[in-house]
Amino acid sequence: MSLFSSGNGDKRSEELIMQNPLPRNSGKRWRAGVLGATGIVGQRLVKLLSDHPWFQLTEVAASERSSGKTYAEAARWHLDGPIPEVARGLIVKGLDPTLACDFVFSALDSSVAGGAEEDFARAGYPVISNSKNHRMDPDVPLLIPEVNASHLDAIPFQQKNRGYEGGFIVTNPNCSTAGLVLVLKPLADAFGLEKVFVVTLQAVSGAGYPGVPSMDIHANVVPFIPGEEEKMESEPQKLLGKWDGARFIDAGLGLSAHCNRVPVLDGHLECISVSLKKIASLNEVREALRTFEVSHELASLPTAVRHPVVVIDGDDRPQPRRDVQAGNGMAAAVGRVRECPLLDIKLTLLSHNLVRGAAGGALLNAELLAARGLLHYRVPASESQLVQPAAQ
Ligand code: NAP
Repeated sequence: MSLFSSGNGDKRSEELIMQNPLPRNSGKRWRAGVLGATGIVGQRLVKLLSDHPWFQLTEVAASERSSGKTYAEAARWHLDGPIPEVARGLIVKGLDPTLACDFVFSALDSSVAGGAEEDFARAGYPVISNSKNHRMDPDVPLLIPEVNASHLDAIPFQQKNRGYEGGFIVTNPNCSTAGLVLVLKPLADAFGLEKVFVVTLQAVSGAGYPGVPSMDIHANVVPFIPGEEEKMESEPQKLLGKWDGARFIDAGLGLSAHCNRVPVLDGHLECISVSLKKIASLNEVREALRTFEVSHELASLPTAVRHPVVVIDGDDRPQPRRDVQAGNGMAAAVGRVRECPLLDIKLTLLSHNLVRGAAGGALLNAELLAARGLLHYRVPASESQLVQPAAQ
């Protein structure tokens, strides 16, 4: 389901999207490339870009296995519906940073993402990454627009530090971290956070394709996901921390994570217990979550939802099958808010690992960069200059 179509019954999001203005440079869209376009996250990006009001998909790139083929030949398509027309006939390129586009999304396997993303940034491309490689770099924003848009102030520092001209790297967090931090943010703002204990039940699509062998996951739970607990214990510190003009300052939270792979297709469920700095009633906690609303700047972005946390009533919710599309897949669904005998409160949250936790999150990051004038039209070498767009 596209985030920009109106067939999903989410009335609030539809209203929001219809209010969203097109860029003021109307008629011209930024040209986007997708590195790792054949993978499970890359395919989501291709689909979301196929009817995006600001961006136009012009380039796809992947490994030597795919390059030289058309996208339709190279991609083993996992999504409902056909491969978008705009992508079918594109020739898949390699990772040479000479693509005809204004910026790139990276959905590359982490074995190659680190170097490739640096090559593109050095060649002048803004790189909006899903991969883990640069998330914790001391000069790279790890971004959830609703949480820490101010961390984009680190971009000029990064460019100076690395000698990048025009290019830079911005990353989104690990798919489990994305939902967790979206829910922690309103609690941090209203009450302050001391400690967070989280147990995840993560979908198989979080491991890419083909991911976990079917004989390991069918009718089973695997209580280990390599590297996941470390990411969940470090990334929220950066996301909820501050950029002080020269470095990121951690939030200083106590954090402990247990990560499990479960036989669910899409959607990571997380059971969390939290201790707060300020005493709060359950109603105050529910209210803080329910009323969490994005700024005017964010509300004007095509992929944004006005309320990125959706509180669901019902003792047995949220559930992946029923609730994973909350806010077009861009919201975290929260339920079971109750007292915790060990810490202060506990609740269950769910977020779409491939939308909020990957492609949709990256798209929102790109939209914020566009709105802040941080994307440029790259013109052919013969004209040899960067053209500043008239953004939001
Ligand atoms: P995937 O399905 O395995 O796709 C990997 C992509 O990387 C494919 O396009 C593949 O191209 C390309 N690739 C692999 N080796 C390459 C090489 N040597 N040179 C160039 N391209 C190469 O993985 P995914 O789940 O989409 O994940 C992509 C990235 O996003 C990973 O870094 C992952 O950690 C991150 N991420 C994933 C999720 C999720 O929920 N799945 C969430 C957040 C972040 P070929 O098809 O040609 O092999």
